[in-house]
This record gives sequence, structure tokens and C-alpha cells, in this order.
Amino acid sequence: VSRSAIVVGAGIGGLCAALALRRAGLQVTVLERSPAIEPIGAGIWMWPNAIHGLRSLGVGDRVLRDAAPVGLTVRSARGRALADTGSDEFPRRFGAPLVVLARADLHAALLEALGPEPLRLGARCVAVDPAVARVELASGERLQGDVLVGADGLRSVVRAALAGPAEPRFSGYTAWRALMTPPPELAARIADCKYTGRGRIFVCVRLGDGSVFWAATGRADAGEAANPAVDRLRLLAAFSRWTDPVAAIVAHTDPEAILRHDLYDREPLARWTHGRTTLLGDAAHPMLPNLGQGACQAIEDAVVLGRAFAEADGTVTALRAYERARRPRAGRIVRQSRRMARLEHVDGHAARVLRDGLMRALPRSAALRQLAPIVGHHA
Ligand SMILES: Cc1cc2nc3c(=O)[nH]c(=O)nc-3n(C[C@H](O)[C@H](O)[C@H](O)COP(=O)(O)OP(=O)(O)OC[C@H]3O[C@@H](n4cnc5c(N)ncnc54)[C@H](O)[C@@H]3O)c2cc1C
Repeated sequence: VSRSAIVVGAGIGGLCAALALRRAGLQVTVLERSPAIEPIGAGIWMWPNAIHGLRSLGVGDRVLRDAAPVGLTVRSARGRALADTGSDEFPRRFGAPLVVLARADLHAALLEALGPEPLRLGARCVAVDPAVARVELASGERLQGDVLVGADGLRSVVRAALAGPAEPRFSGYTAWRALMTPPPELAARIADCKYTGRGRIFVCVRLGDGSVFWAATGRADAGEAANPAVDRLRLLAAFSRWTDPVAAIVAHTDPEAILRHDLYDREPLARWTHGRTTLLGDAAHPMLPNLGQGACQAIEDAVVLGRAFAEADGTVTALRAYERARRPRAGRIVRQSRRMARLEHVDGHAARVLRDGLMRALPRSAALRQLAPIVGHHA
């Protein structure tokens, strides 16, 4: 008889874990609290390390079909070029492109590959017994598997059962994101670019279908209610003196399309696994988005977890192998993301001049070499 796995959470991490465990021969059930899978979220960067992972889960081609390959272009708020890696460099050096795609497309590709059967919607997990891989749902129903994977995100119930109910750490930064379709005269002025200025960043990328994904981050208080119209005015004021087309992109965005998220992470955990239960994705290692690696790391987790089950005899041995391979790397990237956030949001004039000067002086090949340990990784 095949072993059974319960995955809590149908985000990118949970769906990839389900695909990976099924490929390893397990029977998988995915429990998702939402009553329906809504296409939410704006765009997402998938670095070569994630594309390698998606390929080994059998969905690489399907995902790349919807994706726009990009390079990494950075300019100052005044428009001065600071760095530029062409989009060809990524496949050439790392064997896969850097792409940006609509989150909804990525989610749809994963759901399509998994099929509807393993998925249970409206299934909110409220209690966990890690030792025996058992969960209790809000309905009172109990389910037990040979292994339980907590892929239930930043405020994971499974993590709380394993490591205690600590709150995540607010970074001091908030992100605003949207998809929009620019009118032709604006579209002609938009290039894929990250703009960096005083304490703020603005990134815009053209997706294949004529739409544009943009994201901005800056300081804000945690827990302010999202008010799209006010948020848009605030962003327009913040970016009014930045180089064209930053403010124009915001001005042409429907306020209702603007998503706002306070940015949190957590200190890396000393253990992910207890008994027959482990953690994956943001439940295990939430990180700030400044390296664009949160979901990429969740995909790596899933690949390694699947391989551990395919190769090891017992569940406990497999979970141990998974954690040993993943925990140090994910913890490093949590810390690197935090350092990157600090660097990208530098506020003081002297520090900014220094940062921008260093970025300009760094040759393209050196910039790519710096990225290699993160984005060139094959899980
Ligand atoms: C502004 C921003 C930009 C980002 N940009 C990028 C990027 O460009 N590239 C990148 O790789 N990453 C990026 N990330 C990070 C990425 O979004 C996350 O790391 C990734 O989505 C985590 O996936 P996950 O499946 O672990 O968790 P989640 O996406 O949070 O999914 C958790 C799922 O579990 C469900 N759930 C929660 N609790 C329960 C429960 N009790 N019972 C049942 N179900 C439950 C939730 O409904 C949800 O569906 C970004 C993040 C932010 C905030």
C-alpha cells in the first residue's frame, strides 16, 4: 500500500509539495481553508532555481509558456542606469531564464497539473498532532496520514504546533502591487526596470499579454487598513518627482487593482520537523521579497521533499533528509533577503550615493556571479 500525505495549504508551496509527493508514490490530500481558489495576487518573479524545480515537477514547460523572460535593469529615481543584465544571460549561465508571470497563471498551471481530486477546499485546519501526522478541521473532522506537511503560510497553524505561537516580525516596510494595462502612448515609455530612490523601490515589468505588473515598497506602519484610493494618492505623492514613467504607471492604475501587504519575516527556526510532521514554504521560512525568492524557495523545498520520499525507506528518515538539505540554505536566504531589504531602502543621502556608485561600478559578470549561489542552484 502506498503511504499517504496530508498537505495543509494550497499556495504555491503546498501545490508543489503535493505534486512532488505524488510523483514519489504517495497518496496526497491538500487541505485549503478558502472555499474557492481565487486568482489573486499580481505578478511574481521566478528565478532559474525555481524553473529548474518546476521542470523536475513536470510543469516547467507549461509555466514558461505564460512567462515573459526578463533581465535585471536597475535605475536611480532620476533614471540613471545603475545595473543591467540582459535577459539572455540567465539561460546562458544558469540553464533557465528569469521570468515574471501573473501569479494566477502560475497557480493555474500547478492546479492543472495536480488535478481536482487531491484538493479539499473549505477545509480549515485548527489543530495538529505532529507526532502522529493528525489534523483537526474547523468542522471537527479529523484526518491522519503517514506524513503531514504544513504549507500554510506566514501565520501557519502547523508551525505554531511545532514551534509555538510566535508572531512574525514586521520589517517596517509595506508593498503595493498591481496589474494594469497601459494606454499605447504610456506602454511605449515602459521598460522592465527596478527604480531605486530614497527609502523606496518601484519595479515594473511588461507581461506578454500587453499588461504591466508593478510593485512598490517603502516604509509604512503595520496594520494600516488597505484603502486603495488613499494608497494610490500616497504613492503618486511619493513618486511624483521620480523619472518617467513611474508616477504615470500608478496614475493609470485602477485603485481597486492595488494590493497592499505589510512585509514580515521570521528568524530561521532551529527545527522544521517533529515526529511525522514538517514545514515547507512560508510556514517554514517566511522572507522579505527583496530577492524575489520566497516562492522559489518553496519550490526547492517541494523538490527536495519529494526526492527524500522517493529515496528513503521510512517517513522519519525522509523528513530528516529533507530538513538537513533545506534548512541551512533557506535560513541563509532569509538573512540575505533582510540585508537586501535594508540596502534597497537606504534613506540617507551619503549611503545612497555610495550604494549607487558601487552598483554602477560592478561589472555585469560580477553581478551575476554574486547571484549564482542563490539563483543558479539546482535543488
Ligand atoms: C510583496 C511580495 C512580493 C513577492 N514577490 C515574490 C517573487 O517575485 N518571487 C518569489 O519567489 N516570491 C515572492 N514573494 C514570496 C511569495 O509570495 C511567498 O513566499 C509564497 O507565496 C509562499 O507560498 P506558500 O505556499 O508557502 O504560502 P502561501 O502562499 O501563504 O499559501 C498558504 C496557503 O495555506 C492556506 N492556509 C493557511 N492557513 C490554513 C489553515 N489553517 N488551514 C488550511 N489552509 C490554510 C492559505 O489560504 C493559503 O492558500 C513575494 C511576497 C510578497 C509579500
